[in-house]
Amino acid sequence: MSLKVVKFGGSSLADAEHFRQVAEIIKADPSRRYVVPSAPGKRFSEDTKVTDMLYSLYELVRSRAASEVIDAHFASIKARYNDIISELGLDFDLSGEYEYIKNAVLHNSGRDFAASRGEYLNGIILAKYLGFDFIDAENVIFFKENGSFDEEKTNDILSLELKEHKNAVIPGFYGTSPNGTVVTFSRGGSDITGSIVARAAEADLYENWTDVSGFMMADPRIIKNPSIIDTITYRELRELSYMGATVLHEDAIFPVRNAGIPINIKNTNKPEDRGTMIVSQASGYDTEHIITGIAGKKGFSVLTIEKDMMNSEVGFGRKVLESLEDFGVAFEHLPSGIDTMSVIVSTSQIDEHREKVLQSVTRRTKPDSVTLEDGLALVAVVGRGMVKARGTAARVFSAISGAGVNIRMIDQGSCELNIIVGVDEQDFEKALNAIYNEFVK
Ligand code: ASP
Repeated sequence: MSLKVVKFGGSSLADAEHFRQVAEIIKADPSRRYVVPSAPGKRFSEDTKVTDMLYSLYELVRSRAASEVIDAHFASIKARYNDIISELGLDFDLSGEYEYIKNAVLHNSGRDFAASRGEYLNGIILAKYLGFDFIDAENVIFFKENGSFDEEKTNDILSLELKEHKNAVIPGFYGTSPNGTVVTFSRGGSDITGSIVARAAEADLYENWTDVSGFMMADPRIIKNPSIIDTITYRELRELSYMGATVLHEDAIFPVRNAGIPINIKNTNKPEDRGTMIVSQASGYDTEHIITGIAGKKGFSVLTIEKDMMNSEVGFGRKVLESLEDFGVAFEHLPSGIDTMSVIVSTSQIDEHREKVLQSVTRRTKPDSVTLEDGLALVAVVGRGMVKARGTAARVFSAISGAGVNIRMIDQGSCELNIIVGVDEQDFEKALNAIYNEFVK
């Protein structure tokens, strides 16, 4: 029988009503054997996520707030869980756990410990509600001394542990360091736990349940009602998330990708929707559109260096890049001409070093001219279908120019998975709409 690992995000477990939906989803398919929950998220837009409440609890303790203030804050965290327990009609209480957590936070258990209790308590409740075993992530997810995730140790121990349980709940977001303290992943890290569990369980599928029906082809704040991406490869996803499209934690990709396990992004509120499949090889998955998605970002600057006979000067590019490296500035793109070289960098990175970088480039390369211009936005058109479809680049450019937008830079990755176009920041939204309308509408 196939095996699925299912992860539910905070919005999918924000209250008792959502717990019921989640249980229904899990019970509908017996192959959904291992469940990774987040902490309760927002119930309405002005609500606070339990994880954020726990971070504030830690700050209150650290800043030595009055004990009544700490008590009141802790009471509001307990209320989130107690409401879920009582509304689900469960017959148990977490007072022992609350007592222990409060004491630990009051006695320097650390910021990560405090934050991790959101998933821990939610995991206990969910396990009780489902009748599944509870596996504390503390005993199966490990970090190294330097704070990085210990993949090998985790996989060895976790895979053995999972074999002992037909069904289990493993809370997301945290694990332990070699000295026994609780450590969390970065924010949104329950996605990573889900991926790690899927790998250790040798799952056939990692379902990541959230509050949207998959990845959208473009940012809905810019494009009205964008279509959902049906299937996307890990590489395409990487290209799109680099440009700021996020639904899934970026580090959640590696464990399952290496193991060849696909991820299915699903919507807890609309379980019948197919969602987005993330796969390593897309053969067998047809694309309806030539492009898979469009993403983009504002806030880039262009450093342009001109020098006669530049192309025959050995080491020219290195000198330019060294000038950036000296000030810790990463480069994003390097569109070059015969006697000009441009380097696209993020404005926020170069901002405080602009004069020094310009001086360093001048000293090292003795150019005819060097300039630094801000206000560039990058638009990435991503799609594995572009390799086969002739004329895609031409369609992108004519759509943009048809919208009256001037193209300031073009960069096509050599794998033909993406075309990146630089436009003035004020033309960003126009350019995205023009491309979307050309390929999708
Ligand atoms: N609860 C954690 C957060 O809010 C982790 C997660 O939800 O994935 O960041």
